[in-house]
Amino acid sequence: MNVYFRCMNIIFASQNPNKIREINSILEGKINIVGLDPLLFKNELPETGNTLEANALQKARFVFAATGNACFADDTGLEIESLNGRPGVFSARYAGEEKNADRNMEKILEELANIKNRSAQFRTVIAYLNGTEEKLFEGIVKGEIANMKVGSNGFGYDPIFIPEGQSKSFAEMDLEKKNTISHRARAFQKFKLFLLSGNI
Ligand code: IMP
Repeated sequence: MNVYFRCMNIIFASQNPNKIREINSILEGKINIVGLDPLLFKNELPETGNTLEANALQKARFVFAATGNACFADDTGLEIESLNGRPGVFSARYAGEEKNADRNMEKILEELANIKNRSAQFRTVIAYLNGTEEKLFEGIVKGEIANMKVGSNGFGYDPIFIPEGQSKSFAEMDLEKKNTISHRARAFQKFKLFLLSGNI
């Protein structure tokens, strides 16, 4: 990583261009967010915690240590009530190290076969640090696990997650609609309020 990078930007410890676009659209250009790609950082970030909070903090601390620049990281999990909160922090790799979304969903549909309580939530945690303080922000969307995969938009578990008050899965919604109610958008909105209150 380029350790000489210093400016008023905030670094988003993420290599996912969709997430960078999403947060930039929520911040409406009021604060400049830079992802890791422009900093030529290509390696995977350490993510060995047992909670979403621990992982988000670990990634943010890693990037802060390398740059000395204010930065934040996020971590998300799908928490299913009848599975005692699984897959949770293990959402990406639930069916194996290859992080295959179809396999992950199939595993969950099998585990929930014949189970009536299909309540679940997506939860995102953002960890922000600037050298003097560490802050966490949380966004949750509650919903239900569908009986089968429906829809082809989005990514991850979107085809099997029906948000509360909706009849369609996330994967049947366009991105704009998903972003009005999603866990990540809710966490980003809280983070935006914090930043725009002069807390950079
Ligand atoms: P991450 O922390 O954003 O990388 O998310 C971890 C895992 O949670 C992803 O690999 C996906 O399996 C799942 N996930 C996160 N956000 C979403 C979402 O918005 N829709 C569906 N699945 C998601």
